[in-house]
Amino acid sequence: MSEVARLNGDAVRHWPKNVVVMKFGGTSVEDAPAIRRLIQIVRSRANFSRLVVVSALAKVTDQLILLGKVAGEGQLETATRSLLAIRLRHEHVASELLNREDYLRVHLELQGDFLSLSNLLRSIAEDGQLSPQSQDHLSGFGECLSSRVVSAALRRAGEDAVLVDSRSCLVTDSRYTCAAPLWQQTRERVKTLLEPLLLEGQVPVLGGFIGANSDGVPTTLGRGGSDFSATILGATLRAHRIEIWTDVDGILTADPKLCPNARPIPRMSFDEASELAQCGAKVLHPSSLIPAMRENIPVFVLNSSNPADHGTEIIAHVNSVHGVRSVTAKRNVAAVEIEAAEQIDSRMLAAVYRAFDRHHCAVDLMECSRSRIWLMVGSTANLPAIADDLRSVARMGWENHRALVCLVGEGIRRQPEIASRVFAAISDMDVRLACQSPSDWSISFLVDESRAEETVQRLHGHFFPPNESRKQPTSNCCAEAMGGGG
Ligand code: ADP
Ligand code: ASP
Ligand code: MG
Repeated sequence: MSEVARLNGDAVRHWPKNVVVMKFGGTSVEDAPAIRRLIQIVRSRANFSRLVVVSALAKVTDQLILLGKVAGEGQLETATRSLLAIRLRHEHVASELLNREDYLRVHLELQGDFLSLSNLLRSIAEDGQLSPQSQDHLSGFGECLSSRVVSAALRRAGEDAVLVDSRSCLVTDSRYTCAAPLWQQTRERVKTLLEPLLLEGQVPVLGGFIGANSDGVPTTLGRGGSDFSATILGATLRAHRIEIWTDVDGILTADPKLCPNARPIPRMSFDEASELAQCGAKVLHPSSLIPAMRENIPVFVLNSSNPADHGTEIIAHVNSVHGVRSVTAKRNVAAVEIEAAEQIDSRMLAAVYRAFDRHHCAVDLMECSRSRIWLMVGSTANLPAIADDLRSVARMGWENHRALVCLVGEGIRRQPEIASRVFAAISDMDVRLACQSPSDWSISFLVDESRAEETVQRLHGHFFPPNESRKQPTSNCCAEAMGGGG
């Protein structure tokens, strides 16, 4: 620890101040030009204590998981061949960003990572399956590789960047593939490992998405989890702001890949944005806003290819215009129906929740009548076991291949005309369940998965006709003036 820190205990206790956590997603680190843009953005925050969180290079996580499956099916040679392509890509990106000396060092480090990866694939092939624990170990390498390259590139560009292994900082439970942070232990690690670096003016660079349980076994926070890593670290450090740098101009009225005329939303409340993330909008991990909300840290969603754009600012309260703010869909859900032998009471509900929890099956939405419970889940893998557990008290059935289409906006539930407009816009479709979230922030419909895109497009076209102005209005526009975006 530095002299300043040792001499001034108070400063240490209240430090670090003005931390900005900057998370860069897969497309924002996908190649050398993207990483050069990242460097410029990190530079533009030089007045802050900066912490950088990076995703794996675009598509690498998918590729690693696929390799694991291929190895698990016994095709180790095919998996090893594909691993070489991933290695060449990382080496190529590093060679474009670094001078010869730095490149040789990073090349050697990458060689070590890829050796570990080959050994891991071999042991998966020997096991004959890709277990959730091995999947987390394997898929987490994407972030180890990218953070290595990005930290070296930042150093080469003159920043005092230092690579920190997230698995030594972010402590999680052992729910492989969807782990949650253990706050106390994470806080202690952040205090001992990250705060001193920030205090010295260094720029820690960490891979997002990954952590380790208290025994040091690698875990991941679920797909898209780098956003969550950024907010966990931001909350732990009581950051001044958290920036999520991605490939779109902030949060939009719909996924622009589905609705090309979707409009950016300049400002949203935590509740609205969190509901949207939980309803399947890929732009943010479903749990990512919870830590920021708890510490009241503003989150900015920004475009790394267009850093001057305002993006979306997410704060506690927005005096926004009520009504529909965004339309989204969550695919791959299953609708479960539970028919109870007797009238449903709180004990029955508790038994149902316990059974789903025991089998690590997250419940998205629940509706209840006197004798039936309907709920939505994202994975059907454990439903037979849950049905078995509940057999003595209820009969359970389910339908796969459904999508939950959601309209999100503050007070949406208090405006009955919105629901009737939705019904009118999709009156010809088979809407299997319509429910209004108890949180007041969304209305959701279950449709056949094959019609999810069309439903989103029709509802978006209805609530955001193409001839209206591009940006959504806000009533308290007071963007924080910062160089280069935000
Ligand atoms: P990153 O790799 O930066 O984390 P993601 O692919 O996870 O990026 O998230 C960004 C993508 O989220 C966008 O390219 C867009 O297609 C999708 N998306 C879905 N819904 C929305 C929305 N409402 N607003 C903006 N983007 C959305
Ligand atoms: N690389 C991980 C994924 O693709 C995490 C992330 O990008 O946020 O899911
Ligand atoms: Mg993402």
